[in-house]
Amino acid sequence: MNLIPLPAFSDNYIWLLHHNGKALVVDPGDSQPVLDALASLHLVLDLILITHHHADHTGGLSALKAATNAPIYGPAKEKMPPGVLPLTQGDSVTGCGVEFQVQDVPGHTSGHIAYWGQPQGMDPILFCGDTLFSGGCGRLFEGTATQMLDSLDKLSAFPGATQVCCAHEYTLSNLRFARQVEPANQALLAHENHCLALRAQGLPTLPSRLDIELKINPFLRSRHEKVRASVQNYRATTNDDAAVFAALRQWKNEFK
Ligand SMILES: [Zn+2]
Ligand SMILES: [Zn+2]
Repeated sequence: MNLIPLPAFSDNYIWLLHHNGKALVVDPGDSQPVLDALASLHLVLDLILITHHHADHTGGLSALKAATNAPIYGPAKEKMPPGVLPLTQGDSVTGCGVEFQVQDVPGHTSGHIAYWGQPQGMDPILFCGDTLFSGGCGRLFEGTATQMLDSLDKLSAFPGATQVCCAHEYTLSNLRFARQVEPANQALLAHENHCLALRAQGLPTLPSRLDIELKINPFLRSRHEKVRASVQNYRATTNDDAAVFAALRQWKNEFK
């Protein structure tokens, strides 16, 4: 079983999982990186998974469908191109011998879904699209802070060893913000150094691991005393969980 992030556009990753010559891809915003990988690794594409409707996650669908005829699954609650099979909370879908559970994780978009699966002999895999990033989370384009906080709570409940496969390489800028929020978080400083070294070699910082994210990602830590105090210091809010989370997200939007 192999898990590979294929770079696309300026900072997207199209995740490719393959086993015994069969492959699945997640969020192919562009077809060419996928077609190139299938050719060079001699793979047959037999499943395409979509997390949400944004063009940088769906733009390659028609060309891939034409080239491979692989079935495409995507969120039931979003407008998808014709032929995309709908999935929602409680559904599952199998690819490369792995059964992926579907979670509704609204916030970035209103019908965003995520896929979690446990391959044999490998740590679990989470394809979380633009909901959870390493050190950050997606912008709230269509959903509310309450929805995003609930969605991140759901993802946080998966096993700590879960490989977090995010759809963008936003890690270094996210960690710079995280450091502003928690300047004394040693795990955060160590992770930032690790990621700086990876980027200096042109390597992806992903997949991350859920147990690391729980230690370093302010959006998974918005109930921690220090994160809360830091947010309150930036902009006073009520102590309500969703209000603190909303203020944290706003702070990130304003952070240069
Ligand atoms: Zn998006
Ligand atoms: Zn995106």
